[in-house]
Amino acid sequence: MKALDELTFDNRFARLGDDFSTHVLPEPIDEPRLVVASNAAMALLDLDPAIAETPVFAELFGGHKLWAEAEPRAMVYSGHQFGGYNPQLGDGRGLLLGEVYNQAGEHWDLHLKGAGQTPYSRMGDGRAVLRSSIREFLASEALHALGIPSSRALCVIGSSTPVWREKQERAAMVLRLAQSHIRFGHFEYFYYTSKPEQQKQLAEHVLKLHFPECQEQPEPYLAMFREIVERNAELIAKWQAYGFCHGVMNTDNMSILGITFDFGPFAFLDDFDAQFICNHSDDQGRYSFSNQVPIGQWNLSALAQALTPFISVQALRETLGLYLPLYQAHYLDLMRRRLGFTTAEDDDQPLVERLLQLMQGSGVDYTLFFRRLGNEPPALAVARLRDDFVDLAGFDAWADEYQARVIREGNGDETQRRERMHAVNPLYILRNYLAQNAIQAAESGDYTEVRRLHEVLSKPFEEQPGMEQYAQRPPDWGKHLEISCSS
Ligand code: AMP
Ligand code: MG
Repeated sequence: MKALDELTFDNRFARLGDDFSTHVLPEPIDEPRLVVASNAAMALLDLDPAIAETPVFAELFGGHKLWAEAEPRAMVYSGHQFGGYNPQLGDGRGLLLGEVYNQAGEHWDLHLKGAGQTPYSRMGDGRAVLRSSIREFLASEALHALGIPSSRALCVIGSSTPVWREKQERAAMVLRLAQSHIRFGHFEYFYYTSKPEQQKQLAEHVLKLHFPECQEQPEPYLAMFREIVERNAELIAKWQAYGFCHGVMNTDNMSILGITFDFGPFAFLDDFDAQFICNHSDDQGRYSFSNQVPIGQWNLSALAQALTPFISVQALRETLGLYLPLYQAHYLDLMRRRLGFTTAEDDDQPLVERLLQLMQGSGVDYTLFFRRLGNEPPALAVARLRDDFVDLAGFDAWADEYQARVIREGNGDETQRRERMHAVNPLYILRNYLAQNAIQAAESGDYTEVRRLHEVLSKPFEEQPGMEQYAQRPPDWGKHLEISCSS
C-alpha cells in the first residue's frame, strides 16, 4: 500500500511535447470535500483506501495541491460530432495530471475533469458540475463491475464554487483513470491539420505503448487498426447486450483502447426499447440505442480516414469489414449466455431477435427479465414473466421454443443453471432514477446515498440483503428523466 506522496510518475504523453498538449495548472475549487471514492480504483494505484478520507486527498483532487512529478497537460484533439467535423476540440475542462505506474507495472493516466479553463475551452468555463461528476463516477465503476470495459473513476470532489448551467450549481472534479486518454479524435486532428510528422509520432507512441504486440506484425499500423476494430466491436456488443446507451458517440469520445469513455447523458435501458434516445438534444436519434452498432462502424471509418497516410485504403476497407461480423459473434455469444445456454445452435439468433421484438413496446424491464428467467426452472419462469408482454400468443410461442432449447442443452441441473445465469445477468444496474436520487441528496450535502449506490453497483450480480430497493423498476417520476447535456 502506498501513501499519496509515494505515487511514481512517468509522463509519457507529456514528453511528446507542445504539439500534442499544453501545460496548464489546475484551478482549485473552493472548500474541496470528498463526495465518494472507489476502493477498487484506489487499488489500481496501490493506494490505501483509508487515505481518501484525509484532507490532503480532497486538496489534491480538488486542484489545490500537485505532486512535484506531475506534469498537468491539456491534450489537443478534434473529431466528428453528430456527423460533422469539428476542428476545434481538446481538453477544455480536463487535465492529464500525469501517468502513474503501479506495482503490477501498469501505467494509469490521472485525468482531472473540471479542473478549469485551458486553451481548448472555447466558450466554456472549464468546470464540471456535481451532478455530471457523480454520474461519470457511478457509471465508470458500475460498467467495470459488469465486465464492460470503461475508463475508471477514483473519486469525486465537491466544492462550494458556484457554476452556471440552466441554474446555479456547484463545481466538482472527478479523477478519471485510464491506460490512455487518446481518442479517435487525436488522430483526426493531426490528419486534418496536415501534420504528418506529429501524426506519425502519435501513431508510434500508441503502437509502442498500447499495442506492443502489433509491432511484431508485418504491417504494425494495420495490425493496430485491426485491434482497435476488434476491441470496439466487442465493447459495443457488450453495450447492446446489457442495454447501455452512451448517448454521445462522437469520435472525440471514442477511445483507441475500446473502452467506454466520456460520459454525458448516458442511460441503461429500463423498459426495452431499441429506438431509445437517451440524449434529448439528439433530435434525429443518431445515437439511439440500436444505432450504436452502425455508428461504431461509422466512427471506425472516421479513424480509418485519418490513418490513410499509413495504411492502404484497400487494407483499411477490408479491416473495417470485420467489424460487423465480429460484433454479431460477440453479441450472440453474450445473449446466449444471458439466456442460460452453454452451446450454440443455428436458430439462436432468431430466438434472440424474436424475444426483443416481443419486448419492444411491451414495457418489459430489460434487466429484470433475464434475472427472473434464471431465478426459477424455465417453465415456471416463463409463466411468471408472461404477464409483462402485450403479445401473449407471441410470447407463448417463444417460450415453447425457449424451453425446448433449454431441454436440448441437456444439462438439467437447475442450481447450476441459476448460478450460471445469475453470474451474467445483473440484479442491480445504474438506473437513471437511482443516480438522480443520489445526486439530489448529494446536492444538499448528504453523500451517504451516492456511496451506498456505488457500493451496491460494485457487486451487480450478487443479491445483497437489505438492498432490494435498488433492484426495482423506476417509479413513474423516474421513467423518462431528461438528462441535461450541459454538464
Ligand atoms: P463533451 O461533450 O464533454 O465530450 O465535450 C466536448 C468538448 O467540449 C470537449 O472539447 C470538452 O473539453 C469541451 N467542454 C465541455 N464542457 C466544457 C466546459 N464546461 N468548459 C470548457 N470546455 C468544455
Ligand atoms: Mg468528450
